[in-house]
Amino acid sequence: MNAEIIAIGSELLLGATVDTNSAYLARHLAAAGINLYRKAVVGDNTERIAAMVREALERVDLVICTGGLGPTVDDVTREGVALALGRELEFHEALLEQIAARFAAMNRTMSPSNRQQAYLPAGARAIENPRGTAPAFLVEDARGTVIVLPGVPHEMRYLFEHAVLPYLRNERGISSVILVKTLHAVGLGESVIGEMVADLMQAENPTLGISAKQARYELRIGARAESQAEAEALVAQAEATIRERLGSNLIGDEPLAAQVVRMLAEQQQTLTIYEGTLMAPIYRALSATPNGLAHVRGVLIHPLDRPTDEHAAASLALAGAISAADRWRSDLGLAVQASSTSDERGFTAVSVALCTPTGMRQATRKYDLNQPEGWEFVGTLALDLLHEYLNPNTTASM
Ligand code: AMP
Ligand code: MG
Repeated sequence: MNAEIIAIGSELLLGATVDTNSAYLARHLAAAGINLYRKAVVGDNTERIAAMVREALERVDLVICTGGLGPTVDDVTREGVALALGRELEFHEALLEQIAARFAAMNRTMSPSNRQQAYLPAGARAIENPRGTAPAFLVEDARGTVIVLPGVPHEMRYLFEHAVLPYLRNERGISSVILVKTLHAVGLGESVIGEMVADLMQAENPTLGISAKQARYELRIGARAESQAEAEALVAQAEATIRERLGSNLIGDEPLAAQVVRMLAEQQQTLTIYEGTLMAPIYRALSATPNGLAHVRGVLIHPLDRPTDEHAAASLALAGAISAADRWRSDLGLAVQASSTSDERGFTAVSVALCTPTGMRQATRKYDLNQPEGWEFVGTLALDLLHEYLNPNTTASM
Protein backbone atom coordinates (compact mmCIF):
# COMPACT_ATOMS: atom_id res chain seq x y z
CA MET A 1 0.00 0.00 0.00
CA ASN A 2 1.28 3.46 -0.94
CA ALA A 3 0.36 6.61 0.92
CA GLU A 4 0.67 10.37 0.94
CA ILE A 5 0.25 12.80 3.81
CA ILE A 6 -1.39 16.21 3.48
CA ALA A 7 -0.93 18.61 6.38
CA ILE A 8 -3.58 21.32 6.27
CA GLY A 9 -3.31 24.73 7.89
CA SER A 10 -2.27 28.21 6.79
CA GLU A 11 -0.19 28.56 9.98
CA LEU A 12 2.00 25.72 8.68
CA LEU A 13 2.63 27.60 5.42
CA LEU A 14 3.49 30.75 7.34
CA GLY A 15 6.07 28.89 9.37
CA ALA A 16 4.24 29.85 12.57
CA THR A 17 3.61 26.21 13.46
CA VAL A 18 6.07 23.45 12.67
CA ASP A 19 4.41 20.52 10.91
CA THR A 20 5.28 17.82 13.43
CA ASN A 21 2.18 15.77 12.57
CA SER A 22 3.56 14.74 9.18
CA ALA A 23 6.82 13.57 10.72
CA TYR A 24 4.89 11.48 13.25
CA LEU A 25 2.66 10.00 10.56
CA ALA A 26 5.65 9.32 8.30
CA ARG A 27 7.48 7.40 11.04
CA HIS A 28 4.42 5.35 11.94
CA LEU A 29 3.46 4.58 8.36
CA ALA A 30 7.02 3.38 7.76
CA ALA A 31 6.85 1.20 10.85
CA ALA A 32 3.60 -0.28 9.52
CA GLY A 33 5.31 -1.11 6.23
CA ILE A 34 3.41 1.45 4.17
CA ASN A 35 5.39 3.27 1.49
CA LEU A 36 5.14 7.00 1.72
CA TYR A 37 5.31 8.76 -1.63
CA ARG A 38 4.97 12.40 -0.58
CA LYS A 39 4.22 14.81 2.21
CA ALA A 40 2.51 18.05 1.29
CA VAL A 41 1.37 21.14 3.14
CA VAL A 42 -1.59 23.24 2.02
CA GLY A 43 -3.37 26.25 3.50
CA ASP A 44 -6.97 26.41 4.73
CA ASN A 45 -8.54 26.80 1.31
CA THR A 46 -11.29 24.50 0.02
CA GLU A 47 -10.26 24.42 -3.66
CA ARG A 48 -6.57 23.97 -2.98
CA ILE A 49 -7.22 21.21 -0.45
CA ALA A 50 -9.50 19.47 -2.96
CA ALA A 51 -6.90 19.76 -5.72
CA MET A 52 -4.20 18.34 -3.46
CA VAL A 53 -6.35 15.37 -2.38
CA ARG A 54 -7.39 14.61 -5.97
CA GLU A 55 -3.80 14.74 -7.15
CA ALA A 56 -2.62 12.47 -4.35
CA LEU A 57 -5.34 9.91 -5.18
CA GLU A 58 -3.96 9.66 -8.70
CA ARG A 59 -0.69 8.36 -7.26
CA VAL A 60 -1.55 6.39 -4.14
CA ASP A 61 -4.26 4.28 -2.46
CA LEU A 62 -4.19 6.02 0.91
CA VAL A 63 -4.25 9.73 1.69
CA ILE A 64 -3.99 10.88 5.28
CA CYS A 65 -4.96 14.49 5.99
CA THR A 66 -4.41 16.30 9.27
CA GLY A 67 -5.73 19.68 10.39
CA GLY A 68 -8.63 22.00 9.66
CA LEU A 69 -11.39 20.08 11.43
CA GLY A 70 -12.13 22.81 13.97
CA PRO A 71 -15.40 24.72 14.29
CA THR A 72 -14.26 28.05 12.83
CA VAL A 73 -14.87 29.29 9.29
CA ASP A 74 -11.25 28.79 8.30
CA ASP A 75 -11.50 25.07 9.04
CA VAL A 76 -12.52 23.82 5.61
CA THR A 77 -10.93 20.37 5.40
CA ARG A 78 -14.35 18.65 5.39
CA GLU A 79 -15.43 20.81 2.47
CA GLY A 80 -12.15 20.29 0.62
CA VAL A 81 -12.25 16.50 0.93
CA ALA A 82 -15.95 16.37 0.00
CA LEU A 83 -15.21 18.48 -3.09
CA ALA A 84 -12.26 16.28 -4.08
CA LEU A 85 -14.42 13.17 -3.91
CA GLY A 86 -17.48 14.80 -5.50
CA ARG A 87 -19.65 14.09 -2.46
CA GLU A 88 -22.08 16.29 -0.57
CA LEU A 89 -21.59 17.10 3.09
CA GLU A 90 -24.24 15.39 5.18
CA PHE A 91 -25.39 16.31 8.66
CA HIS A 92 -25.23 13.56 11.32
CA GLU A 93 -27.51 14.09 14.28
CA ALA A 94 -25.65 11.40 16.25
CA LEU A 95 -22.35 13.21 15.79
CA LEU A 96 -23.84 16.46 17.02
CA GLU A 97 -25.07 14.64 20.13
CA GLN A 98 -21.58 13.23 20.71
CA ILE A 99 -20.04 16.67 20.35
CA ALA A 100 -22.62 18.14 22.75
CA ALA A 101 -21.94 15.36 25.25
CA ARG A 102 -18.21 16.07 25.07
CA PHE A 103 -18.78 19.75 25.78
CA ALA A 104 -21.02 18.88 28.70
CA ALA A 105 -18.40 16.49 30.08
CA MET A 106 -15.79 19.26 29.88
CA ASN A 107 -18.18 21.76 31.50
CA ARG A 108 -18.02 23.97 28.47
CA THR A 109 -20.84 25.46 26.46
CA MET A 110 -21.10 24.45 22.88
CA SER A 111 -21.31 27.28 20.37
CA PRO A 112 -23.52 27.15 17.27
CA SER A 113 -20.38 26.91 15.09
CA ASN A 114 -19.64 23.46 16.51
CA ARG A 115 -22.63 22.23 14.53
CA GLN A 116 -20.31 22.37 11.51
CA GLN A 117 -18.27 19.52 12.97
CA ALA A 118 -21.26 17.18 12.65
CA TYR A 119 -21.07 17.30 8.85
CA LEU A 120 -19.18 14.59 6.94
CA PRO A 121 -18.81 13.83 3.24
CA ALA A 122 -21.57 11.42 2.11
CA GLY A 123 -20.59 7.82 2.77
CA ALA A 124 -17.82 8.75 5.20
CA ARG A 125 -17.29 6.77 8.35
CA ALA A 126 -16.93 8.87 11.49
CA ILE A 127 -13.98 8.19 13.79
CA GLU A 128 -14.94 9.09 17.32
CA ASN A 129 -12.48 11.48 18.97
CA PRO A 130 -12.51 11.07 22.75
CA ARG A 131 -9.66 13.58 23.08
CA GLY A 132 -11.37 16.54 21.49
CA THR A 133 -14.60 17.76 19.96
CA ALA A 134 -13.78 17.33 16.29
CA PRO A 135 -14.71 13.88 14.99
CA ALA A 136 -12.28 12.50 12.45
CA PHE A 137 -13.45 10.43 9.48
CA LEU A 138 -12.46 8.14 6.68
CA VAL A 139 -13.87 7.74 3.20
CA GLU A 140 -13.37 4.64 1.09
CA ASP A 141 -13.68 5.77 -2.49
CA ALA A 142 -13.09 3.96 -5.78
CA ARG A 143 -9.99 6.13 -6.25
CA GLY A 144 -8.57 5.32 -2.83
CA THR A 145 -9.08 5.85 0.87
CA VAL A 146 -8.94 9.28 2.47
CA ILE A 147 -8.45 9.49 6.24
CA VAL A 148 -8.91 12.86 7.90
CA LEU A 149 -7.47 13.51 11.36
CA PRO A 150 -7.51 16.61 13.56
CA GLY A 151 -4.51 18.95 13.64
CA VAL A 152 -4.07 19.06 17.43
CA PRO A 153 -1.03 16.80 17.77
CA HIS A 154 -2.12 14.73 20.79
CA GLU A 155 -5.56 14.12 19.28
CA MET A 156 -4.00 13.19 15.94
CA ARG A 157 -1.56 10.75 17.56
CA TYR A 158 -4.27 9.16 19.68
CA LEU A 159 -6.59 8.62 16.74
CA PHE A 160 -3.79 7.30 14.56
CA GLU A 161 -2.87 4.67 17.14
CA HIS A 162 -6.36 3.79 18.30
CA ALA A 163 -8.37 4.02 15.10
CA VAL A 164 -6.21 4.31 11.98
CA LEU A 165 -3.68 1.57 12.71
CA PRO A 166 -6.38 -0.93 13.78
CA TYR A 167 -8.31 -0.07 10.61
CA LEU A 168 -5.25 -0.64 8.42
CA ARG A 169 -4.39 -3.91 10.15
CA ASN A 170 -7.87 -5.39 10.52
CA GLU A 171 -9.64 -4.11 7.46
CA ARG A 172 -6.85 -3.51 4.98
CA GLY A 173 -4.62 -6.44 5.82
CA ILE A 174 -1.50 -4.39 6.50
CA SER A 175 0.82 -6.83 8.17
CA SER A 176 4.35 -6.05 7.15
CA VAL A 177 6.84 -4.52 9.51
CA ILE A 178 9.60 -2.01 8.85
CA LEU A 179 12.33 -1.98 11.42
CA VAL A 180 14.95 0.75 11.62
CA LYS A 181 18.15 0.58 13.63
CA THR A 182 20.62 3.42 13.83
CA LEU A 183 24.35 3.00 14.43
CA HIS A 184 26.71 5.89 15.10
CA ALA A 185 30.22 6.28 13.79
CA VAL A 186 33.03 8.76 14.32
CA GLY A 187 36.55 9.26 13.05
CA LEU A 188 35.91 8.66 9.35
CA GLY A 189 34.74 11.03 6.64
CA GLU A 190 31.30 10.42 5.15
CA SER A 191 32.77 9.47 1.78
CA VAL A 192 35.14 6.97 3.41
CA ILE A 193 32.31 5.31 5.36
CA GLY A 194 30.25 5.35 2.16
CA GLU A 195 32.93 3.44 0.31
CA MET A 196 33.32 0.89 3.08
CA VAL A 197 29.63 -0.04 2.96
CA ALA A 198 28.83 0.88 -0.64
CA ASP A 199 27.38 -2.56 -1.41
CA LEU A 200 24.98 -2.35 1.56
CA MET A 201 23.87 1.11 0.48
CA GLN A 202 22.82 -0.28 -2.89
CA ALA A 203 20.83 -3.16 -1.44
CA GLU A 204 17.02 -2.94 -1.41
CA ASN A 205 16.21 -4.86 1.74
CA PRO A 206 17.64 -4.12 4.20
CA THR A 207 18.49 -0.59 3.13
CA LEU A 208 21.31 1.48 4.51
CA GLY A 209 21.41 5.27 4.62
CA ILE A 210 24.19 7.45 6.01
CA SER A 211 23.83 11.02 7.19
CA ALA A 212 26.36 13.37 8.75
CA LYS A 213 25.47 15.00 12.06
CA GLN A 214 28.12 17.43 13.17
CA ALA A 215 31.26 15.30 13.32
CA ARG A 216 29.36 12.04 13.67
CA TYR A 217 27.66 9.81 11.18
CA GLU A 218 24.37 8.05 11.49
CA LEU A 219 24.01 4.74 9.71
CA ARG A 220 20.34 3.80 9.42
CA ILE A 221 19.57 0.18 8.64
CA GLY A 222 15.99 -0.37 7.51
CA ALA A 223 14.45 -3.79 6.95
CA ARG A 224 11.02 -4.78 5.71
CA ALA A 225 9.53 -8.17 6.46
CA GLU A 226 6.29 -9.96 7.17
CA SER A 227 7.10 -10.36 10.85
CA GLN A 228 9.07 -8.61 13.54
CA ALA A 229 11.39 -11.61 13.90
CA GLU A 230 12.23 -11.67 10.19
CA ALA A 231 12.86 -7.92 10.17
CA GLU A 232 15.12 -8.25 13.21
CA ALA A 233 17.10 -11.00 11.51
CA LEU A 234 17.64 -8.84 8.41
CA VAL A 235 18.78 -5.91 10.53
CA ALA A 236 21.11 -8.10 12.59
CA GLN A 237 22.76 -9.43 9.46
CA ALA A 238 23.45 -5.97 8.07
CA GLU A 239 24.61 -4.75 11.48
CA ALA A 240 27.12 -7.61 11.77
CA THR A 241 28.61 -6.74 8.39
CA ILE A 242 28.87 -3.06 9.31
CA ARG A 243 30.48 -3.87 12.66
CA GLU A 244 33.00 -6.09 10.95
CA ARG A 245 34.00 -3.33 8.54
CA LEU A 246 33.84 -0.21 10.71
CA GLY A 247 34.87 -1.83 13.98
CA SER A 248 36.08 0.70 16.50
CA ASN A 249 34.77 3.63 14.50
CA LEU A 250 31.31 2.63 15.65
CA ILE A 251 30.22 4.16 18.90
CA GLY A 252 27.15 3.64 21.04
CA ASP A 253 24.05 5.82 21.31
CA GLU A 254 25.61 7.65 24.22
CA PRO A 255 25.92 11.37 23.40
CA LEU A 256 29.44 12.58 22.69
CA ALA A 257 29.76 14.65 25.88
CA ALA A 258 28.60 11.73 28.05
CA GLN A 259 31.09 9.44 26.33
CA VAL A 260 33.97 11.80 26.90
CA VAL A 261 33.00 12.20 30.56
CA ARG A 262 32.82 8.42 30.99
CA MET A 263 36.21 7.93 29.33
CA LEU A 264 37.84 10.60 31.48
CA ALA A 265 36.55 8.76 34.55
CA GLU A 266 37.62 5.32 33.30
CA GLN A 267 41.09 6.52 32.39
CA GLN A 268 41.37 8.72 35.47
CA GLN A 269 42.33 11.76 33.45
CA THR A 270 41.81 15.32 34.58
CA LEU A 271 40.99 18.16 32.23
CA THR A 272 41.30 21.92 32.20
CA ILE A 273 39.33 23.98 29.71
CA TYR A 274 40.45 27.17 28.01
CA GLU A 275 37.69 29.14 26.33
CA GLY A 276 38.79 31.99 24.09
CA THR A 277 35.16 33.16 23.98
CA LEU A 278 32.43 34.06 26.46
CA MET A 279 30.20 31.57 24.67
CA ALA A 280 32.28 28.89 26.43
CA PRO A 281 31.16 26.06 24.10
CA ILE A 282 33.19 23.30 25.79
CA TYR A 283 32.05 24.22 29.28
CA ARG A 284 28.45 24.40 28.06
CA ALA A 285 28.59 21.01 26.39
CA LEU A 286 30.13 19.33 29.43
CA SER A 287 28.01 21.05 32.06
CA ALA A 288 24.84 19.95 30.25
CA THR A 289 25.87 16.34 30.91
CA PRO A 290 25.34 14.61 34.27
CA ASN A 291 28.61 14.73 36.23
CA GLY A 292 30.09 16.48 33.21
CA LEU A 293 32.46 18.60 35.27
CA ALA A 294 33.59 15.84 37.64
CA HIS A 295 37.01 15.56 36.04
CA VAL A 296 37.41 19.20 35.12
CA ARG A 297 40.04 20.93 37.27
CA GLY A 298 39.34 24.43 36.04
CA VAL A 299 37.96 26.64 33.31
CA LEU A 300 39.84 29.63 31.96
CA ILE A 301 37.72 32.08 30.05
CA HIS A 302 39.83 34.51 28.08
CA PRO A 303 37.65 36.42 25.64
CA LEU A 304 40.00 39.35 25.10
CA ASP A 305 42.33 37.90 22.49
CA ARG A 306 41.21 38.86 19.01
CA PRO A 307 43.16 36.81 16.50
CA THR A 308 42.57 38.25 13.05
CA ASP A 309 43.00 35.06 11.05
CA GLU A 310 42.92 31.30 11.15
CA HIS A 311 46.63 30.93 11.90
CA ALA A 312 46.60 33.35 14.80
CA ALA A 313 43.51 31.57 16.19
CA ALA A 314 45.26 28.21 15.86
CA SER A 315 48.36 29.31 17.73
CA LEU A 316 46.32 30.95 20.49
CA ALA A 317 44.33 27.73 20.90
CA LEU A 318 47.55 25.73 21.24
CA ALA A 319 48.99 28.19 23.75
CA GLY A 320 45.68 28.20 25.63
CA ALA A 321 45.56 24.40 25.91
CA ILE A 322 49.12 24.30 27.27
CA SER A 323 48.67 27.11 29.75
CA ALA A 324 45.35 25.72 30.99
CA ALA A 325 46.78 22.24 31.66
CA ASP A 326 49.79 23.80 33.31
CA ARG A 327 47.82 26.21 35.47
CA TRP A 328 45.81 23.47 37.21
CA ARG A 329 48.26 20.61 36.76
CA SER A 330 45.73 18.57 34.86
CA ASP A 331 46.56 15.71 32.50
CA LEU A 332 44.82 17.36 29.60
CA GLY A 333 44.12 20.89 28.40
CA LEU A 334 41.37 21.52 25.87
CA ALA A 335 41.10 24.94 24.24
CA VAL A 336 38.95 26.78 21.74
CA GLN A 337 39.73 30.03 19.97
CA ALA A 338 37.73 31.69 17.21
CA SER A 339 39.11 34.21 14.76
CA SER A 340 37.64 37.69 15.16
CA THR A 341 36.99 38.07 11.44
CA SER A 342 34.72 36.11 9.13
CA ASP A 343 34.87 35.41 5.42
CA GLU A 344 32.53 36.76 2.74
CA ARG A 345 30.01 33.97 3.47
CA GLY A 346 29.94 34.94 7.15
CA PHE A 347 31.95 31.87 8.21
CA THR A 348 34.47 32.18 11.02
CA ALA A 349 37.55 30.01 11.51
CA VAL A 350 37.55 28.25 14.87
CA SER A 351 40.50 26.32 16.24
CA VAL A 352 40.43 23.70 18.94
CA ALA A 353 43.56 22.30 20.54
CA LEU A 354 44.29 19.51 22.98
CA CYS A 355 47.41 19.35 25.12
CA THR A 356 48.26 15.79 26.29
CA PRO A 357 51.27 14.25 28.04
CA THR A 358 52.30 12.79 24.69
CA GLY A 359 51.86 15.85 22.50
CA MET A 360 49.44 18.30 20.96
CA ARG A 361 46.44 17.75 18.74
CA GLN A 362 44.56 20.36 16.83
CA ALA A 363 41.68 20.94 14.41
CA THR A 364 40.42 24.03 12.62
CA ARG A 365 37.02 24.39 10.96
CA LYS A 366 34.81 27.20 9.71
CA TYR A 367 31.34 27.81 11.09
CA ASP A 368 28.59 30.37 10.76
CA LEU A 369 28.64 31.50 14.36
CA ASN A 370 25.55 33.64 13.87
CA GLN A 371 23.45 30.51 13.51
CA PRO A 372 21.89 29.29 16.74
CA GLU A 373 23.71 25.96 16.50
CA GLY A 374 27.05 27.47 15.48
CA TRP A 375 28.67 27.35 18.92
CA GLU A 376 27.22 23.91 19.57
CA PHE A 377 29.19 22.64 16.56
CA VAL A 378 32.31 24.21 18.02
CA GLY A 379 31.72 22.37 21.31
CA THR A 380 31.32 19.13 19.35
CA LEU A 381 34.52 19.77 17.40
CA ALA A 382 36.46 20.22 20.66
CA LEU A 383 34.93 17.18 22.36
CA ASP A 384 35.60 15.12 19.24
CA LEU A 385 39.28 15.98 19.44
CA LEU A 386 39.28 14.82 23.06
CA HIS A 387 37.23 11.73 22.19
CA GLU A 388 39.70 10.79 19.48
CA TYR A 389 42.54 10.97 21.98
CA LEU A 390 40.69 9.00 24.68
CA ASN A 391 39.56 6.34 22.21
CA PRO A 392 42.87 5.03 20.88
CA ASN A 393 41.09 2.44 18.75
CA THR A 394 39.79 5.05 16.35
CA THR A 395 41.63 4.15 13.20
CA ALA A 396 41.62 7.21 11.02
CA SER A 397 41.45 10.91 11.72
CA MET A 398 38.53 13.07 10.51
P1 AMP B 1 -6.54 22.66 13.40
O1 AMP B 1 -6.99 21.26 13.50
O2 AMP B 1 -6.04 22.99 12.03
O3 AMP B 1 -7.57 23.63 13.87
O4 AMP B 1 -5.28 22.84 14.34
C1 AMP B 1 -5.40 22.76 15.75
C2 AMP B 1 -4.07 22.98 16.40
O5 AMP B 1 -3.13 22.00 15.99
C3 AMP B 1 -3.42 24.31 16.09
O6 AMP B 1 -2.80 24.82 17.27
C4 AMP B 1 -2.38 23.98 15.07
O7 AMP B 1 -1.32 24.88 15.10
C5 AMP B 1 -1.96 22.59 15.44
N1 AMP B 1 -1.59 21.86 14.23
C6 AMP B 1 -2.34 21.77 13.11
N2 AMP B 1 -1.71 21.05 12.17
C7 AMP B 1 -0.52 20.69 12.71
C8 AMP B 1 0.58 19.94 12.22
N3 AMP B 1 0.58 19.41 10.98
N4 AMP B 1 1.66 19.75 13.04
C9 AMP B 1 1.64 20.29 14.27
N5 AMP B 1 0.64 21.01 14.79
C10 AMP B 1 -0.44 21.22 14.02
MG1 MG C 1 -6.14 25.07 11.37
